[in-house]
Amino acid sequence: MQATGLLAGNGRIRGTRIDMKSREIIIKSRPAGMPRESDFEMIERDLGECGPGQVLVRNLFLSVDPYQRNRMRSVLEPGDVVPARCVGMVLASRRETLRTGDLVFVSNGAWREFMLIDGGDASLLDPELSPPQIHLGIAGIPGLTAYVGLLDHGRPRAGETVFVSAAAGAVGSLACQIAKRSGCRVVGSAGSDDKVDWLVREAGIDAAINYRTCGDLSTAMRRHCPEGIHVLFESVGGAQLDAAVGVMRPHGRIVLCGLISSINVEGARPGLADLDAFISKRLGLRGFVVTDHLDRKAAFHADLKGWLARGEVRWRETIVDGLDSAPRAFIELLEGGNAGKMLVRLSSPD
Ligand code: NDP
Repeated sequence: MQATGLLAGNGRIRGTRIDMKSREIIIKSRPAGMPRESDFEMIERDLGECGPGQVLVRNLFLSVDPYQRNRMRSVLEPGDVVPARCVGMVLASRRETLRTGDLVFVSNGAWREFMLIDGGDASLLDPELSPPQIHLGIAGIPGLTAYVGLLDHGRPRAGETVFVSAAAGAVGSLACQIAKRSGCRVVGSAGSDDKVDWLVREAGIDAAINYRTCGDLSTAMRRHCPEGIHVLFESVGGAQLDAAVGVMRPHGRIVLCGLISSINVEGARPGLADLDAFISKRLGLRGFVVTDHLDRKAAFHADLKGWLARGEVRWRETIVDGLDSAPRAFIELLEGGNAGKMLVRLSSPD
């Protein structure tokens, strides 16, 4: 088995046995409403045997995402580790295609320091897309969500008005910029003045609304979308979705990406109060799940490389340090404390 000097030198690998422990974050109890730090617990586990085809990965960055909250509602049981996408470094390998020192993306990782996983679950990072953690953000699932959600489902045309909610987040900020590149008027909503400023000054959209301070949302949307909304890229739901439905143009297209405003709600989600408007305005409503569109990743990366090389897209990230910070970072994400992609950094690749 290949292994780094670090591990081998520490005498922690005996044959194929990884003689060390890894810390990880488990669910102590399923959150009721907004999660609390006391819903999580850090524990240690032995790593054990590196089986044929397996690799040992040291996680460098852990992703913090809204979907983890959905998993906590029904899929995860108390005692389960929190699932997460991760970027890490291969420390030991029993798989031909992966070598020690390789940087990899793992989609079915978890909030843990080290992982013994099947090598087939680890994909090499494209070195043309750096720094490594962008494979969890603009170059990762959030970026692909914006790309397929807006272009394939929203199908914006030059001259149309596109409205993006949660516009300053990992998905929304790229959706805004792709819409702008498509020749559209782009208006977004976000929850702080700092985010609103960034969207207009850095991301280059036409207008942004602070939904917390703007007063009546419909009035603010109408003011910034005087011709109405042709394409709504919706990630919030509830009152924001209802306000936008009122401003949609006839034959408008609504791409339903997420419902973060009610992510902590058990049972029926609020929103879509005015179904009559869907009939009278002939509106389309289309939900999508990004993992149905992984075949679009190559086209997305080809476009993204060009945009990044020419400095045509901007991205932000909020990084917190240390595995023990993951629960707090998760709660902050749900409270809007992140600017751009929310990440936990465990160690640096260098
Ligand atoms: P973000 O980086 O956008 O972070 C979440 C943001 O949501 C917060 O920063 C906050 O921004 C906003 N938010 C939180 N609570 C509320 C609320 N009550 N009302 C309005 N806004 C709120 O996360 P992602 O970019 O990872 O995800 C964005 C959306 O995309 C989510 O709805 C997610 O579920 C969805 N998604 C869907 C996928 C799919 O396949 N369909 C795949 C990936 C993500 P603010 O300060 O502006 O309130």
